[in-house]
Amino acid sequence: MTNTISILGSTGSIGRQTLDVAEQLGLCVAALTANSSVDRLEAQVRKFHPRLAVMTEEAAARDLAVRLKDTDTRVLGGFAALEEAAALPEADTVVTAVVGMVGLRPTLAAIGEKKRIALANKETLVCAGELVMDAAEKTGAEIIPVDSEHSAIFQCLQGCASRQEIKRLILTCSGGPFYGMNTVEAGRMTKADALKHPNWTMGPKITVDCATLMNKGLEVIEAMRLYRLPLEQVDVVVHRQSIVHSLVEFRDGAVLAQLGTPDMRLPIRYAMTYPERGENPADPLDLLSCPPLTFAPPDREVFPCLALAEEAAVRGGTACAVLNGANEEAVRLFLADRIGFYDIFHLTKKAIAALPAVEKPTLEEILEADQAAREIVSKEHFS
Ligand code: NDP
Ligand code: MG
Repeated sequence: MTNTISILGSTGSIGRQTLDVAEQLGLCVAALTANSSVDRLEAQVRKFHPRLAVMTEEAAARDLAVRLKDTDTRVLGGFAALEEAAALPEADTVVTAVVGMVGLRPTLAAIGEKKRIALANKETLVCAGELVMDAAEKTGAEIIPVDSEHSAIFQCLQGCASRQEIKRLILTCSGGPFYGMNTVEAGRMTKADALKHPNWTMGPKITVDCATLMNKGLEVIEAMRLYRLPLEQVDVVVHRQSIVHSLVEFRDGAVLAQLGTPDMRLPIRYAMTYPERGENPADPLDLLSCPPLTFAPPDREVFPCLALAEEAAVRGGTACAVLNGANEEAVRLFLADRIGFYDIFHLTKKAIAALPAVEKPTLEEILEADQAAREIVSKEHFS
């Protein structure tokens, strides 16, 4: 059970919900970080009194330092300070809730200090899953997934003595806002359309990833890395109601699932209290008022990003870092209204085709692949 947490990305959707849970559980807060949201971080510091507050944007950090002069909280700026926040000795758990592969170095820093990692930042595992899992195995740092599907699987696997007992993992997928459309209809969809997710309220990047189904592709890779399973043992089913958060099928044919209302505070809470469970003030799932639970196969033609991610997973090496870096850059362009819906797929595919998949990459090679992928996407976009 956790006593003191640090949150990387405390001003975002997961970060704010983590602070709700921290308040409910009476946890202490050691460090909070954000990129540029000064007002939000200032309010959080005044409420939770962390020892350290970090803003990666230097100007925002200077502004925050002036505002917090009357407090005991130290303020630092820049990317390196994220690693300092991640490694702060007071915290036993680090919640990685930044968006994107910028979370990689700080996650490794926290693992180096044998913290429990409550991992929301899936891009880190997609880019460098083997490196991260090997580092955790070496130091004994626990990695507890916060992503709802992976938390569901983690919960279903309690009591499972060996990976050999698993036949397959079944990730559920809401289908996103464009479910049921054909390619012509989906191709017309704009940023405003993509940002309307049917069941979850999340940050803009993951919301767009849910519309393209790249999110599910990233989650397939995340599951492969977390549980060290091949692609053949990770399936996806569309489940529009987001009540069944994922399932595990075992060798003997038993299928275990975790159900709950679509509320990220439940997986966040479990990552804090594991291996125990505490009272939760949220409304419980009421099966009698649930809509009928339905399951369908994903449409890989209308949503080709899912198959693209699966191909990258099979290619292995730096291919997943390329996939992720290209997608991050393409989503940034889509959110700036500079490219269309299917350009996200086309640009990411181009980057994967253009770059080699370096086997067993080092951290430096992963960072280089990420950078090269971003450059290809921005160059292609301007050409
Ligand atoms: P948000 O966009 O809501 O929040 C992102 C957080 O990261 C903010 O605190 C933001 O600070 C900070 N941040 C953004 N860019 C940088 C940067 N370049 N350097 C340092 N910090 C940065 O994202 P979400 O909370 O939705 O998602 C966070 C992670 O959790 C993602 O990896 C996502 O895939 C994963 N996840 C999210 C779920 C959800 O329900 N939201 C569900 C499952 C997984 P600022 O506010 O200053 O911009
Ligand atoms: Mg998820």
